[in-house]
Amino acid sequence: MKIGFIGTGVMGTGIINNLLKSDHQVTVYNRTAAKAEPVIANGAVWADTPAEVAQAADITFTMVGYPKDVEDVWTRKDGLFSGAKTGHILVDMTTSTPKLAEKLAQRGKNLGFKVLDAPVSGGDIGAKNGTLSIMVGGDEAVFDQVLPILKDVGQQIVHAGSAGKGQHMKMSNNIGVAATVITMAESMVYAKAAGLNMDDAYNVWRHGAAGSWSVTNYMPRVMAGDFSAGFYAKHLLKDLRIALDAANEMAIDLPGTKLAEKLFAQLSENHADEGVQAIVKLWSAFQ
Ligand code: NAP
Repeated sequence: MKIGFIGTGVMGTGIINNLLKSDHQVTVYNRTAAKAEPVIANGAVWADTPAEVAQAADITFTMVGYPKDVEDVWTRKDGLFSGAKTGHILVDMTTSTPKLAEKLAQRGKNLGFKVLDAPVSGGDIGAKNGTLSIMVGGDEAVFDQVLPILKDVGQQIVHAGSAGKGQHMKMSNNIGVAATVITMAESMVYAKAAGLNMDDAYNVWRHGAAGSWSVTNYMPRVMAGDFSAGFYAKHLLKDLRIALDAANEMAIDLPGTKLAEKLFAQLSENHADEGVQAIVKLWSAFQ
């Protein structure tokens, strides 16, 4: 199948490179054309609009930033819906709202397309190494059709249920991401105040009960003074707000997630474009 891919940022670039390594033909588009240069150098082909990407492909993926970006790319005049042919498969990998996923699935179905929501977890490293977890919402038959391609970019791939359920699975996942990043930060603040050796602390935590993906992957970045974005603080804030809105609709209270939203909102005032590990900067010991 010929693949289209829109969004050549941190995650899109890693995923596209793995599709190219698996010998897929990939046509790409990105808002800032220069950011597509690395994947074009590896064999991807540029198209000038989302519609032109869809015209060149049988299946098109989007991996953009926010729900409003997804809606724009899919529904604008030169968007995916205007370029796709009947039977085209459209897959949104952006972390977006369950409601938008349901809406796009219904609209896509009415237009004769097959639509999935397929957000991912595993960070910039997972995208680069092809080890992403992928959670998919939509028709199971379409999921089965897309599965071989998803296996080229991910390892844990689940069909979470009907349209929007992939995004719900992602929200439940990122509630945990926020919590583990915050507890990593607090453990580090405590260890520093107590004068502990941070390399020793790293080895104890990651091999013991305090271990987490955040400790294993983000703590070394903090220790090296690397606050660049593998996962943007502003994107985690977006996710926490989506999760809290969805929780509200389901009439459940998530007090820990509300606190996490406050902390990431505070961080995003000055560090929105840094990685989530910059959360340590809320404490003076890391400023
Ligand atoms: P990113 O580096 O900002 O990439 C997003 C890309 O989408 C950018 O290149 C952006 O273009 C492009 N884009 C946005 N709106 C567009 C539009 N209207 N038309 C065309 N292109 C558009 O972000 P990322 O880290 O790859 O994250 C992408 C999504 O994955 C987010 O929803 C994020 O929450 C989620 N996610 C991220 C991680 C992670 O660890 N990074 C992990 C799991 C999920 P510009 O170049 O013009 O900005």
